[in-house]
Amino acid sequence: MPELPEVETIARNLREGRLGLQVPGQKIADISNDWRRQIAMPDWESFHEQLCGQTILDVQRRGKYLVFPCSKGTLLIHLRMSGDILLADHHQPAGGHEHTIFYFADGWSMRFSNTRKFGRVFYTTNPAAIYDKLGPEPLGDIFTANWFYSRLSRRKRKIKPLMMDQSFLAGMGNIYTDEALHRAHIHPERNADTLSFKEAETLWQYIRETLEEGIQRQGASIDWIYRGGDFQNAFQVYHRTGLPCPTCGTAIERILVGQRSTHFCPACQPETVP
Ligand SMILES: [Zn+2]
Repeated sequence: MPELPEVETIARNLREGRLGLQVPGQKIADISNDWRRQIAMPDWESFHEQLCGQTILDVQRRGKYLVFPCSKGTLLIHLRMSGDILLADHHQPAGGHEHTIFYFADGWSMRFSNTRKFGRVFYTTNPAAIYDKLGPEPLGDIFTANWFYSRLSRRKRKIKPLMMDQSFLAGMGNIYTDEALHRAHIHPERNADTLSFKEAETLWQYIRETLEEGIQRQGASIDWIYRGGDFQNAFQVYHRTGLPCPTCGTAIERILVGQRSTHFCPACQPETVP
């Protein structure tokens, strides 16, 4: 699933015209959709009626949402498992997975390709109602080491599922959580309230460093359709079961934590509290 660095890369590509067209400034002339459930808010008829004729003003990111502020409201796209945004000429026939297509007035189109159909599209004049359900941005000013430690110290939940809970912290997924925990030498099943301030501060630092490296490398290209990123070449534990830990040489193990596949080094990340 695209996580913060992958969604940020897509937002920058669309904003800066790296895919051949700058999306800010484009007027939406028409929209087509052949999978109604992809339109999460409002109903399809209202979505089409309200959004057609609006101009996209910017492309931003909040958590794992792509955010398109428009002239009267805000379009949001959540890519979920295998979503991607493609830009193509109007006349190019729709690919089998391009379920929602925005036709721009100048002859281009922006296409939400979604192989596994989990992605969702929203239009609202009150995006704060969606943002209010999300925790802070891990690269933003609110997320400080003190904030992190004070929130962790109140939670008995395992650290990995807590870090991936979007209402706690917005944007982390399986890849960057496994990588940050390994770099911080913290076992993924530690209860959040057992972390010392020093451990919380170290983890906070590696969350930010791992995400920043991911953005710099334009995300990770692995099990979803994605162009260009190479953070997969910097993985220390993710998808490296049985391979030696780059820090100590011990074989990386894979376990399930909160039903999610989890990769860690049993030597660098001991389960016992120090
Ligand atoms: Zn190790």
